[in-house]
Amino acid sequence: MRKMMVAVVGRPNVGKSTLFNLIAGKQISIVKDTPGVTRDRIYADAEWLNNKFTLIDTGGIEPDSQDIILSQMRAQAQLAIDTADVIIFVVDVRTGLVDADYEVANMLRKSGKPVVLCVNKVDSFQKFGNDIYEFYNLGLGDPFGVSSVNQLGVGDMLDEVIKHFPVETAEVDEDDSVKVALIGKPNVGKSSVINKLLGQNRVIVSNIAGTTRDAIDTKIVHNGKEYTFIDTAGLRRKGKIDDDIERYSVIRTVAAVDRADICLVLIDATQGITEGDARIAGIAHESGKGVIICVNKWDAVPDKNDKTMKEFQTKLMEKFSYMPYAQYLFISAETGQRLNKIFDLVNQVRESQTLRIRTGVLNDIMTRATAMKQPPSDKGKRLKLFYMTQTAVEPPTFVIFVNDQQLMHFSYTRYIENQIREAFGFPGTPLKFLIRERQAGEDE
Ligand code: GDP
Ligand code: GDP
Repeated sequence: MRKMMVAVVGRPNVGKSTLFNLIAGKQISIVKDTPGVTRDRIYADAEWLNNKFTLIDTGGIEPDSQDIILSQMRAQAQLAIDTADVIIFVVDVRTGLVDADYEVANMLRKSGKPVVLCVNKVDSFQKFGNDIYEFYNLGLGDPFGVSSVNQLGVGDMLDEVIKHFPVETAEVDEDDSVKVALIGKPNVGKSSVINKLLGQNRVIVSNIAGTTRDAIDTKIVHNGKEYTFIDTAGLRRKGKIDDDIERYSVIRTVAAVDRADICLVLIDATQGITEGDARIAGIAHESGKGVIICVNKWDAVPDKNDKTMKEFQTKLMEKFSYMPYAQYLFISAETGQRLNKIFDLVNQVRESQTLRIRTGVLNDIMTRATAMKQPPSDKGKRLKLFYMTQTAVEPPTFVIFVNDQQLMHFSYTRYIENQIREAFGFPGTPLKFLIRERQAGEDE
């Protein structure tokens, strides 16, 4: 099942960030660093009672005038409605209800999205308990009294949030088309690529009904196979503040990637690689989905010779060295050059995402690998690898049983990964490794 998206909405100063950090806090500190990606807390992985979800903070710049607060809140609420599965609406027991709260509550109610009303700053139920009732007036059901600072009531509120998650049944996904998210900063050519692909291929349904999400789905048939392109183009908000636009684009990208199997990261060849590109690519990488980097506008690069593409790709690979598995394609939406290669590459990546390697074969690779390069040792104790098996796909996940986890350095895991890739390639997908300890002789 895909990860649920939970958005936090509310006026400035009601305590959204405090609540966000409280819910996501533990997870944030252990989040792996993706070099080149400045991570602020627009979104974070979170978990409550074994329910994993992505928490998004829709609040950006704090506006100072009442007019701006209102328009900003409308935009925030709309963003949450478009991208989230459940919305946490935060209000402040100390200020009580204000006009902006009513306005947002109306929007949220009309959207039909599940909303959990969080009345924050209830630091003492004795003192503020009675003030909570006022918030029934918003027409959003039971208010949950919470103190983000004192960590009170948050559990009950999260219980309510996860009640709105779909029950995990043996869910039959009737749509077995490959889902491809087309992502990239504004103006890299996302709409142009989609339009050209539409012109060149058969389209089944455009703008699939029922997708209330903030991305446009387009189903294309190519060589008899179905592909759903999840397109974040044309959704650019005409905001006044750069930071805001950035926040919106990040949240929309996270939402699109969440639903995809494979991310097509579009980059503008005429611009080189920018911070914005790095950030979008980082979102794709951290999702564990397949990644294809498409360098668009290749037609507009002047004075190309037989080395230009190679040089460009080398530069990209340096920048994206944290995802060596990414595939590269140089295209032009303008001329249509290599555009249909997207399908070949998507098929290849899909194959590697779903590939299963037999345990016997994996252990042959492991034995050969450890013979060629001795495992590291520390203080006289040498790492031993006992056994390796693949436990999952999408992304392919391998468990390695060793004598001592501490001895399994990142670099040796990387070495094993390279050996597996040498044998099977796995183009376009990250591989995940879990290291487990086992005593020698156990189960043998
Ligand atoms: P945001 O603008 O909605 O993100 O609000 P912040 O999280 O930045 O919080 C605004 C102010 O309210 C800060 O001074 C917080 O310390 C304070 N605050 C947040 N949660 C609580 C709470 O549960 N109780 C009290 N008393 N203050 C809180
Ligand atoms: P989006 O914001 O990512 O959807 O980008 P658009 O598709 O709107 O494209 C932004 C601009 O780049 C438009 O003026 C396009 O005509 C231009 N553009 C898009 N793809 C190409 C391309 O392959 N070559 C050239 N030369 N221009 C392109």
